[in-house]
Amino acid sequence: MEDTNAIAIANSSLERVGRAPATVALLCQANLSVHAGVARVLLVGSRGLAGGHRPDSDVDLSLIVDMALLAPRDPERVRYLRAVLHTTQAHWRGPVEADLAAVFDINGCGLRCLDDGAGYIPDQCPRGGVDCFGVYKVQRGFDGYVTGPGLDVRRMYPYLTPWCRDDA
Ligand SMILES: [Zn+2]
Repeated sequence: MEDTNAIAIANSSLERVGRAPATVALLCQANLSVHAGVARVLLVGSRGLAGGHRPDSDVDLSLIVDMALLAPRDPERVRYLRAVLHTTQAHWRGPVEADLAAVFDINGCGLRCLDDGAGYIPDQCPRGGVDCFGVYKVQRGFDGYVTGPGLDVRRMYPYLTPWCRDDA
């Protein structure tokens, strides 16, 4: 089912991550692919602008889900988020692991607080970037929503946007 929904990201469309050239090369090598329901891919953590990664560090990617395609309730929503994560994982050919998070708007701000890396724009988000998004992960035996008080968009900074759907 995933293959029919998968978009293999052409290497040329990854060029916008010029500020992390080694990671760009890694993402190309890794055959970065996304589910058709993904609007944007964010690169966070040590292999992005934060720096300081070890040779075996994971690549931390947030897959921003198109809300128009996401079911509002479980179990359909969980199923969809798992498919989103599975698509990228199943196509991943990287020399190190991908640490994936499916990220989706939960309060209707449209995740405008994640503006494409230029910086935090609180005026565009009625909630000031706090508790704006839900996170789902399937990783190392964990399979579920990542919960906790005050999930803050600013914790994702600094990030890069290796890929963005043309219409997103
Ligand atoms: Zn927001």
